[in-house]
Amino acid sequence: MTPTSGFSTRAIHLGYEPMDHQGALTPPLHLTSTFAFDSAEAGSDIFAGERGGYLYSRIANPTTDLLERRVAALEGAEAGLALASGMGAITATLWTLLSPGDEVIVDTTLYGCTFAFMHHGLAKFGVTVTHLDLTDPETLRTAMTDKTRVVYFETPANPNMRLVDIAAVSGIAHQRGALVVVDNTYATPYLTRPVALGADLVVHSATKYLGGHGDLVAGLVVGSAEMIDRIRLVGMKDMTGAVMAPFNAMLVLRGLKTLALRMERHCDSAERVAAWLAAHPGVEGVHFPGLDCCGQRDLARRQMARPGAMIAFELKGGYAAGCRMMNALRLVRRAVSLGDAETLIQHPASMTHSTYTPEERARHGIGEGLIRLSVGLEDCDDILADLDQALAAAALRMAG
Ligand code: PLP
Repeated sequence: MTPTSGFSTRAIHLGYEPMDHQGALTPPLHLTSTFAFDSAEAGSDIFAGERGGYLYSRIANPTTDLLERRVAALEGAEAGLALASGMGAITATLWTLLSPGDEVIVDTTLYGCTFAFMHHGLAKFGVTVTHLDLTDPETLRTAMTDKTRVVYFETPANPNMRLVDIAAVSGIAHQRGALVVVDNTYATPYLTRPVALGADLVVHSATKYLGGHGDLVAGLVVGSAEMIDRIRLVGMKDMTGAVMAPFNAMLVLRGLKTLALRMERHCDSAERVAAWLAAHPGVEGVHFPGLDCCGQRDLARRQMARPGAMIAFELKGGYAAGCRMMNALRLVRRAVSLGDAETLIQHPASMTHSTYTPEERARHGIGEGLIRLSVGLEDCDDILADLDQALAAAALRMAG
């Protein structure tokens, strides 16, 4: 490992020396809730922060520590914090940054549970939640007030794939003293590094591509050491207790080792699938940053190494046709979540985004007929063949 080591080298080696651990090639799993002190004095010094050392796994643990350092390095951030879930990362971060009377400005489209947290959580405790179309960053300039503390968005957004210009939004937000928090779950640090573009904090559902195998629920936040310390000691330790289990940290560490490889394969297949869907007569529209039809291809080129592997599309015939198609699939799994080896398909309006009312979905650009596809790692010909037969079956049933 050198300071200029590449993405995969860092994902595999950073922060770990086998010879410090009896030669164990794989970092040990520290399954312990608490840590013994040499002496009472040592214990009180560690508690006071006057000497290094572990205390209790709700605050820090060596296995989660390693994961935090690796993800922070991959994101180009100073420090990281592992949490029990993506929602744990988002809520611990925002509970730490916001107080009653503050305002958070969020993009029009958010993942369903993030939307619910904003409106049923933060808003209930006296924080003003303002939605703004951040695809036009200039709207922020006039919308921000002295109370705006945080600007929060996803890019690409779940589920409709809208992109937000991280550099432009961060520039404007910082002029008025607000912090920028970006959910980078869809892109991963392999495709987009928001900190380099000006964001202050980056949150992840590590349940998705970082873990990569659909066998855990986990979250992360990265940013400056000062802000991450605050989120650790306030948002995680005291307010949510949303601690990542060391076993899950080990699984995410394993997932990270193949992140670059998996992302390349996910992206190769998604580009083929998106183009194929766009050319299919049964498909009304495709939302994918790699296609010209979205009008955001230039931004995708500027802030994403590749367009990613999430696709949203509508069928001619709307939701009924979408249901028929989903029910006819044989290989692609009908399931929420994303970023797994398996290709997954779901219907946001009735599943991940059912936390919005139908009126809210209409207002927030989430079509009732929208289908979300997470392109997996199977052979792409097999994914396409399954989509093809399912679309044909759906059309036949419509005709019949
Ligand atoms: N952010 C995005 C963009 C998501 O898609 C999800 C979950 O689907 C989350 C956050 C929440 O993550 P988790 O399910 O790990 O709590």
